[in-house]
Amino acid sequence: MDFRLTSEQEQFRDSVRRFAEKHLAKGARERAHATDYPWDVAKLMAEQGLLGITIAEADGGQGGTLIDAVIAIETVASACPRSADVVQAGNFGPIRVLAEYGAPRQKEKYLKPLLAGESVISVGMTEPEAGSAVTDLQTMATPDGDGYRVNGSKVFTTHSTHAQVILAYVRYGPGVDGIGSLLVDTKAKGVRFGKRSKFMSGEEWAQIYFENVFVPADMVVLKEGGFKKQIAGFNVERIGNATRSLALGRYAYEAARQWAMQRRQFGRLLCEFQGLQWKFADMKMKLDAAQLLLYRAAANADRGLPSPEETAIAKAFCNQAGFDVANDALQVMGGTGYSSEALVEYCVRRCRGWMIAGGSIEILKNRIAESVFGRDFPQRPAS
Ligand SMILES: Cc1cc2nc3c(=O)[nH]c(=O)nc-3n(C[C@H](O)[C@H](O)[C@H](O)COP(=O)(O)OP(=O)(O)OC[C@H]3O[C@@H](n4cnc5c(N)ncnc54)[C@H](O)[C@@H]3O)c2cc1C
Repeated sequence: MDFRLTSEQEQFRDSVRRFAEKHLAKGARERAHATDYPWDVAKLMAEQGLLGITIAEADGGQGGTLIDAVIAIETVASACPRSADVVQAGNFGPIRVLAEYGAPRQKEKYLKPLLAGESVISVGMTEPEAGSAVTDLQTMATPDGDGYRVNGSKVFTTHSTHAQVILAYVRYGPGVDGIGSLLVDTKAKGVRFGKRSKFMSGEEWAQIYFENVFVPADMVVLKEGGFKKQIAGFNVERIGNATRSLALGRYAYEAARQWAMQRRQFGRLLCEFQGLQWKFADMKMKLDAAQLLLYRAAANADRGLPSPEETAIAKAFCNQAGFDVANDALQVMGGTGYSSEALVEYCVRRCRGWMIAGGSIEILKNRIAESVFGRDFPQRPAS
């Protein structure tokens, strides 16, 4: 057993670090507070080969591993937390499902601009009446000639106000087996966006309405019965989500560590107070434990798809650790940490969201408990 990165991984990390320090460190604060998608960063990352890291070379990607993509998020976030979202969007999210299950024509139309940093894709799972109980989704795809008519609506969709295409979870028929997915162009007739809203993180979202939208049959990604495959792809998204939690927790920790070594009160450096030393020891233990669980899930990923159990453990732990550490870092920095200059408050706000997004901590713990006892625990009342 070896807990160190390989020399190739170290080289990759160092090259990403040089890139991030040169192009991303400057402007990190402005980017964190901007609502627009950082298109300039996406283009730079495409040139640097940081989009499609785990996607096959035949599909225009880099043919790397999930660990490489995790290293990319961690390293980019250490210079610019907001830019880590671009690594996520270009590697872990619905782009990965499209690359895994999409047909050649779908890849030609959508994957190319995504990998070039010219476009972004959203995943539309959550609906007003289907949050944690995602299999309750009601958006219907009804056969119509050479395609489907889609009717329904999605909420809380990340990048919804910037995306060119949405990987929409839809219902072709009743029950879990009736669920699949298709690609909806956001410019298609019948796609409407509701009032813009903001998460606590500052990110914008808007409810998406599908009003009799025609989707050609060749834009179906997964037919009925595709839900399990879809979730297998979604576990990759969860790894990216966990990585950002950990990386932003670490960013805040590093800022607080530097602060504690130069800020004096009562005639002493903050790092000389035992009450704060123990806080740092706790932060360090949480970050290291989270890192090991994350690397385990990513390193064990089969064909790039991590196991549901290891993903659930890594995500729940990283989400909690990232938030706790960022929050403690803010406390250590006092008023400076709470102020928008430091980016630590931004890390706290972002980490808070990942405790809910992509499978909340509670839902992940339900999944872990099923593995502990080796049985299903249906959450619905017995009928
Ligand atoms: C920052 C952010 C980004 C998001 N991005 C996307 C996106 O890109 N695409 C998308 O489709 N969705 C997205 N979502 C939506 C997200 O997936 C849902 O918010 C999440 O699944 C929870 O659903 P809900 O908000 O409806 O809460 P509910 O399902 O109503 O849950 C409310 C609370 O009850 C708890 N709970 C529910 N059921 C159980 C249970 N059985 N046992 C224990 N506790 C339970 C939940 O954990 C939660 O704390 C995003 C959300 C956030 C916050």
